[in-house]
Amino acid sequence: MTPHTSSWQSELASAFTKPNDLLHYLNINIHSASALVEPDFPMRVPLSYAACMEKGNLNDPLLKQVLPIANELIQHTNYINDPVGDLSALAKNCIIHKYQGRVLFITTGACAINCRFCFRRNFPYSEALLNKQKETKALQYLQEHENIHEVILSGGDPLLLSDQRLDYLINQFSAIAHIKRIRIHTRIPIILPARITDKLIDLLNNAALPIVLVTHCNHTNELSEQVEKACLALKKENITLLNQSVLLKDINDNAIILQHLSERLFNCGILPYYLHLLDKATGTTHFEVKQEAALKIHQQLQNNLPGYLVPKLVKEQTGKASKTLLI
Ligand SMILES: *Cc1c(COP(=O)(O)O)cnc(C)c1O
Ligand code: SF4
Repeated sequence: MTPHTSSWQSELASAFTKPNDLLHYLNINIHSASALVEPDFPMRVPLSYAACMEKGNLNDPLLKQVLPIANELIQHTNYINDPVGDLSALAKNCIIHKYQGRVLFITTGACAINCRFCFRRNFPYSEALLNKQKETKALQYLQEHENIHEVILSGGDPLLLSDQRLDYLINQFSAIAHIKRIRIHTRIPIILPARITDKLIDLLNNAALPIVLVTHCNHTNELSEQVEKACLALKKENITLLNQSVLLKDINDNAIILQHLSERLFNCGILPYYLHLLDKATGTTHFEVKQEAALKIHQQLQNNLPGYLVPKLVKEQTGKASKTLLI
């Protein structure tokens, strides 16, 4: 470690990458775990996320999101490598312009955690997806399309970029007159809150355009005190905080769990935005919650929570001009 490495970078570098190390840390007998595979999509779990798991519990809802298990080898014809049809576009450019008025701008293929249910698992992203040439082209594209009003930094996880890179990109977007907002889709405030440094908060606060930050949190246990502190610090600087969750079998497919999640998110300064049905990516069959069950759960949320704490139930469908609302 060099003296210039920040603590979040060293935490990232020392993330768990071997299932046995993580199970050992959690005091779980390795023999009690079902056959572990060593897949193409390696395990990656930062310590601050592992620290939110319950010791000794192989069924912990956070552990289940990140521990590779043999079920990932199950093949099913409805489960494919590119369920939302974005990956080929991504390989060519770093912009996805499918939706009116807004574009996804892909900055990096890397994430600070590897979620087993992610569609990204089947795509060999190179870490440096956005090279200088693509970047110049992408910025030019934004400039030329006056109907684009919002740029969504996505990935991978855009908060893995250095402060300097983020600052540069935000300044580039802000210099384009028709762009009115910048959105950041990131799981980092939840799984690596040390990344939310004062310097990063300053940088976002000083941006010339309003910033909307959409976190990805699936369970109330992910919202530790440290996460709460990081999110409230962002909120204090007028950054709009929203959350998206994925509905996951035996992890959060229950109205009580989701109700607690919404209420806890609110305490962290975050409003629920989307509750996604799983994207059917190869290797994720064991996470599926059927649409009928999802609708029932959503109805219970609607009954038990104020409207502003009920996320919209959606699914992503290839070729559609927006997410599909299920109610
Ligand atoms: C989800 C998504 C967006 C953002 O959609 P919102 O409904 O505005 O959150 C934009 N582009 C693509 C390709 C998406 O998948
Ligand atoms: S953080 Fe998001 S993009 Fe990264 S692996 Fe998890 S779900 Fe996928």
